[in-house]
Amino acid sequence: MDYPNRFDVIVIGGGHAGTEAALSAARMGCQTLLLTHNIETLGQMSCNPAIGGIGKSHLVKEIDALGGAMGEATDRAGIQFRTLNARKGPAVRATRAQADRVLYKAAIREMLENQPNLTLFQQAADDLIVDGDEAKGVVTQTGIRFHASSVVLTTGTFLGGVIHLGMQNHSGGRAGDPSTIGLAERLRELPFNVGRLKTGTPPRIDGKTVDFSVMEEQWGDDPTPIMSFMGDRSQHPEQMCCFITRTTERTHDIIRGGLDRSPMFAGDIEGIGPRYCPSIEDKVHRFADKNSHQIFVEPEGLNTHELYPNGISTSLPFDVQLEAVRSIPGFENAHVTRPGYAIEYDFLNPQDLRHTLETKFIHNLWFAGQINGTTGYEEAGAQGLLAGINAARRAQGQDGWYPRRDEAYLGVLVDDLITMGTKEPYRMFTSRAEYRLILREDNADLRLTETGRKLGLVDDRRWQRFNEKREGIATERQRLDTTKVRPASEQAQVANRYLKSPMKDALSLSDLLRRPEIGYDQVAEIGGERAGDDTVAGQVEIQIKYEGYISRQEAEIDRLRRNEDLPLPVDLDYDAVGGLSNEITQKLKEVRPETVAQASRIQGVTPAAISQLLIHLKKRD
Ligand code: FAD
Repeated sequence: MDYPNRFDVIVIGGGHAGTEAALSAARMGCQTLLLTHNIETLGQMSCNPAIGGIGKSHLVKEIDALGGAMGEATDRAGIQFRTLNARKGPAVRATRAQADRVLYKAAIREMLENQPNLTLFQQAADDLIVDGDEAKGVVTQTGIRFHASSVVLTTGTFLGGVIHLGMQNHSGGRAGDPSTIGLAERLRELPFNVGRLKTGTPPRIDGKTVDFSVMEEQWGDDPTPIMSFMGDRSQHPEQMCCFITRTTERTHDIIRGGLDRSPMFAGDIEGIGPRYCPSIEDKVHRFADKNSHQIFVEPEGLNTHELYPNGISTSLPFDVQLEAVRSIPGFENAHVTRPGYAIEYDFLNPQDLRHTLETKFIHNLWFAGQINGTTGYEEAGAQGLLAGINAARRAQGQDGWYPRRDEAYLGVLVDDLITMGTKEPYRMFTSRAEYRLILREDNADLRLTETGRKLGLVDDRRWQRFNEKREGIATERQRLDTTKVRPASEQAQVANRYLKSPMKDALSLSDLLRRPEIGYDQVAEIGGERAGDDTVAGQVEIQIKYEGYISRQEAEIDRLRRNEDLPLPVDLDYDAVGGLSNEITQKLKEVRPETVAQASRIQGVTPAAISQLLIHLKKRD
């Protein structure tokens, strides 16, 4: 049957990409349908119950600045919050939260159910309605036909999913859920390039059978860091402790003894796994000289005893898993509640996508999340948001939108995916961003809220609070710039307590803050006044302390942008350009781009390479 209502946007899949996509399209005023296997699993964390971490919290805060759900759900579900790299520079500082799975799902579900313009429907999508090269809707498993202007596909690890546990395997989208077969076959018929990837998860353990006394305790930070710009500490549930233990030589012997029954080593799995999140059998095999690996023992929630042993993802047979687990200090009598497993699934080469995540071959069809070869909730959520925005804009007859690499990690993520593609599950790192001093997690709100407002994603409450903060920063910066401390004054005496050498000349509070030995707290003490809001104080401190580096990066971005139309001579000797990799030199020689902009669009040609090219051109002139 044809469903009587026509939608502007249909989103298939209610994982992290799908929920952000549906929420953003609906928030922008589009009649949106979220079609998913099971309404009970909306926002489900398939693997580790944690959000954020290095590179990933940057994405969460960007999703949040664009009005998305992940940050807010994390504040409502986080049972342990920490700032990682707290002693390092602000570019690599990151917030990580351990989440209660049930609370996280409940928060996402509540947001979805209360979102105007959003309709939920539970059923598997089996086919796409495609007319020529245009997507026009979706057909479900029981033949219901939903029609829409835009379709967003976010099926995660479910396409052609096969679960491996030892030498046994069966079809599945993740433990307990069916895989998506019909749609996977349909996509293989369309002109997409389909590949296989794999990921894995550890066995879960009953905390009642664990001896925590032999493990190291790890508490979160106090006060707890906050994930969302709109969040506050009063939303945080009761906080819990994590623990640390380690594998032993015996664990490694047991694992080595089981490798002949490992689907990975026996060649049953063809898909490539995440390089930075390898299985324990992979770690034992690859790092044979290491006799121990760390395991973070993380609670799955407030109302469950189940634990997530982070670091021992495995697809070894269950008997080997159990013996290996019981060789770990504290787990001697452990009961495994769920075996670990690996899953292999189809992904679509993201080089078949545009920057908006619309497919190149089928118009009005967008792909987002793990289907594009990424791994992680945050990478999925960020893509979902972008695809949802563009699906909505198309339905409303507007042009596409995407951020540049110098504006957001989301820009880096999408640009990396569509220009370079991926051969292994792609995860975000701060090292992937050329301009990481500008793309900090602490300024995601300043970078993106205004854009979010223009796109129709930021509500009045957030907009007002954002403007208050922005004005607060401007006022505080002006106060620090204009408040002078004279050498003989009482304020100078306070300053001299902290300065390496006593003040000789009059200095502004900003000058003092630039000194490495002085932080915002000292400046507040010297001046006898501080900003009312700690986030304003923190932002002002970073902006002033890193001003030099930040303006250098801004100048570089400016230079690149200004030079985009610069012609490249046809006879340019690319071998003579310093600092280029052989691969990039080769590509430039093959393509011989006409302009700098064209060069920058060649797959694999990085902004750093463009910078080298500009230096060379300048020298040549
Ligand atoms: P998913 O969260 O998988 O959501 C897909 C959604 O689509 C589901 O709701 C599903 O029911 C629905 N769906 C699928 N097909 C259809 C259909 N035909 N019709 C209707 N609905 C459909 N990430 C890490 O960062 N680190 C890890 O160590 C890690 N390990 C993992 C281990 C396992 C076993 C699994 C399964 C995942 C793991 N992940 C890991 C990945 C993480 O779960 C994903 O990156 C993230 O969930 C992807 O989000 P998504 O929205 O793209 O897809």
